[in-house]
Amino acid sequence: MTASVSSMTAERAMTPAGHTIVVTAPLEGWLAPLAEIPDPVFAGGMLGDGVAIDPTGGMLHAPCAGTVASLAATGHAVTLRLEGGAELLLHLGVDTVAMGGRGFTPLVAQDQVVAAGDPLVRFDLDAVVTGAASAMTPVLLLAGEEWTLESKRDPGPVKVGDVVMALRRVSGTGAAMGEAAGSPDEELVRELPVPLRHGIHARPAARLRQVATSFEAVVRMEIAGKSASLRSPVGVLALGVRLGDRISLHARGRQAGEVLDALEALIASGMGELAHADEQPPAQPVRVAAPAAAQRRVTQIAPDGTLAGVVAAPGVAVGEAVRYRLGEVEVSEGSGDPATERGLLDETLAALRAKIAQESEGAPPHAASILAAHAVMLEDEDLLAAAHEAIAKGDSAGAGWRLAIGTQVDLLLRSGDARLAERVDDMRDLERQVLCALIGGDAAGFALPQDAVLIAEDLLPSQLMALDPERLAAICLVNGGPTSHVAILAAGLGVPMLVAMGSALDDIAEGAVLVVDAAAARLETGASAERIAGVRDQLALQAARRAAALEARGPCHTADGTRIEVFANLGSLADARQAMANGAEGCGLLRSEFLFVERAQAPGAGEQLETYQAIADALEGRPLIVRLLDIGGDKPAPFLPMPAEENPALGLRGIRVGLAYPELLEAQVEAILSVRPAGQCRIMVPMVASLSELRAVRGVVDGVAARLGLAGPVSLGIMVETPAAAATADILAREADFLSVGTNDLTQYALAMDRGNAAVASAIDGLHPAVLRLIALTCDGGARHGRWTGVCGSLASDPLAVPLLLGLGVGELSATPAQVPDIKALVTGLDTERCRALAARALECGSAGEVRALVREFLKEQGA
Ligand code: PEP
Ligand code: MG
Repeated sequence: MTASVSSMTAERAMTPAGHTIVVTAPLEGWLAPLAEIPDPVFAGGMLGDGVAIDPTGGMLHAPCAGTVASLAATGHAVTLRLEGGAELLLHLGVDTVAMGGRGFTPLVAQDQVVAAGDPLVRFDLDAVVTGAASAMTPVLLLAGEEWTLESKRDPGPVKVGDVVMALRRVSGTGAAMGEAAGSPDEELVRELPVPLRHGIHARPAARLRQVATSFEAVVRMEIAGKSASLRSPVGVLALGVRLGDRISLHARGRQAGEVLDALEALIASGMGELAHADEQPPAQPVRVAAPAAAQRRVTQIAPDGTLAGVVAAPGVAVGEAVRYRLGEVEVSEGSGDPATERGLLDETLAALRAKIAQESEGAPPHAASILAAHAVMLEDEDLLAAAHEAIAKGDSAGAGWRLAIGTQVDLLLRSGDARLAERVDDMRDLERQVLCALIGGDAAGFALPQDAVLIAEDLLPSQLMALDPERLAAICLVNGGPTSHVAILAAGLGVPMLVAMGSALDDIAEGAVLVVDAAAARLETGASAERIAGVRDQLALQAARRAAALEARGPCHTADGTRIEVFANLGSLADARQAMANGAEGCGLLRSEFLFVERAQAPGAGEQLETYQAIADALEGRPLIVRLLDIGGDKPAPFLPMPAEENPALGLRGIRVGLAYPELLEAQVEAILSVRPAGQCRIMVPMVASLSELRAVRGVVDGVAARLGLAGPVSLGIMVETPAAAATADILAREADFLSVGTNDLTQYALAMDRGNAAVASAIDGLHPAVLRLIALTCDGGARHGRWTGVCGSLASDPLAVPLLLGLGVGELSATPAQVPDIKALVTGLDTERCRALAARALECGSAGEVRALVREFLKEQGA
């Protein structure tokens, strides 16, 4: 059990000033001054003062009594916490971390209490001498306020147990000071609510681990008397943390305060799953990963031949029923040699991690994030320890892995939380993949006929990824959950999916023709020939339009020949690849925040350049409009803890942040302007409200361009997201090279409705005439100075908005990558004059609803 702040403080108070601790040699060898270590960090005493020992033996011993405060995963370094809070670092050799654990065998565990002379790590001295920069081992008192080095032994030979240093507790430092700084022997505690819609599930747990491990402190999460290390996402998952729960984070060691700040900001950000203020956790779960046949829902096909389900991915499809059956993987139970079996499991896990890393490259973002969560689970310390323990007791590699997964699955199921139970699928998936790899088999191979409606008990993410999506019309599951990873994947593939359909799926004959209507959340088992033909016609029309748009990869024009650029909004390199595959003509909005959020430190210009260059290259010379960092408001960033604001949407956000932190702005501008070929990147300023902001940014851009020796002009545009910018578009357009309307924010500010608040969600519609009038003002203001106006908010991806935007004078639409072909197809069929007439009528409407009805009628008349 970890001590609380108060008990640790009490313990420390009992160690009076002047108290000394004797430190003995942890190694046999030659003792030298620290300055002789060939590493500036150690030699310069940056981590603390001490001595160096050039070892002649192969065992590291405890130099005094203490507790193992940290043990490097690679076994090459140990920190001991001594009585009274002093911390000693024993670092075997220099740059030995790069040996990846080879040659080091830890003999103790984290938090283990040791006596002076106890063996800590056995190491292969030859391997260190040949494999590392040096075998010189620093023995350091880690820098702190309360302890100092009183004496050191002179250079010369030492044996284990010889006294080498004495530490003395200095007076004048108090507990309160240590607490504030998060000194090593204390535990800092932070309580906070969880605002994530789905609670802390696998992906957030993986992200928390990522941030936690980038600091030195050790962090646990506690809730209702249960506790888990943040280094174990599976352990965190099993805590069953739900939306609205109050958790406490406990950090101990150096950077305890910093890691808590970063974790708090990350959790407060919602990690892309921020719940609305009044949202409640789901009261009664829809269902889910039933582990045993006895738990299947009993359902029946209705007399009209329909069967209800829960929508996991939208869409409509027609196809032929295909049952998905895969046999159990056989595992041999016993093994003669634990070391061989452990090695086999570790190798298999490493190979699977490498395979996942390879699959992640170039995978669309939704699939990449699921693969990343799987990769993290494969590194889960609790899971590995459980498997290793089972193997040590005599299990085979496969049986040990199955047992370890089974334990975690039980924990998740016992949590009683449906969303956690959905994560069981991920655990089962990893179980199956590892077991198949152990026996050298294929985890998920299954051939599909064309237009298959796949019927299965459950489906694992890797099984779906192994299917041919071109042949898959839809998926219907007996079990399954709507927020499972497989559901996210299906939606990403555009495959309609219904789940939780129960036992009635057993009654469907193999090969039966089915209509899956996810819009109506039902499966039609007895659809008439006419109904089937009607659905097929509708799907064929949609497909033909999309295909035509994809085929016509050239510049997009309306039916009357007006040029409309159809760009894509991007948030990653994978998005850029998808956009290109879908025929995007460029990028109208690169949301550069993706590089900054969930980071403990902002990326430097070099790292940013690498990413921007990769995206520019993927676009093969097409324009890339990079939006300057748009954080603050609903997009907090852990590396920039901003003071709490009463009304963050109206506070320090968008370009206001860049101007408040000029070094951030300059680094980003430098990265963008360094992309080659020069001129492919344009710069866009978010959340502009006044000309002075644009001028300030222009000043920075000119300064950086001059420093980089750039000759040509830099295209610098603005986002029109505030009513102020729309109303003064004619003034801003004198100095902005282009204007792009961010309709998401413009709508929230025009209607005074928070875009993240469910209470107003039904009324916040960008087709409100007030918003349309602001867009009209923007287009007119831009045109007055010969500037083009685009739209990069979500209206550009809304088919009902497109004719209106064209009619108002918008010349560029930046849509989501998936929507690009549909938007191109739509634009190609429109007539500009008619769109103008339509827009004029829309500006006179009384509500967004009226506008939508008007456009629906218009599109019907056009046959679009
Ligand atoms: C917008 O506000 O419309 C926009 C495109 O920016 P974001 O959605 O990233 O705030
Ligand atoms: Mg915006």
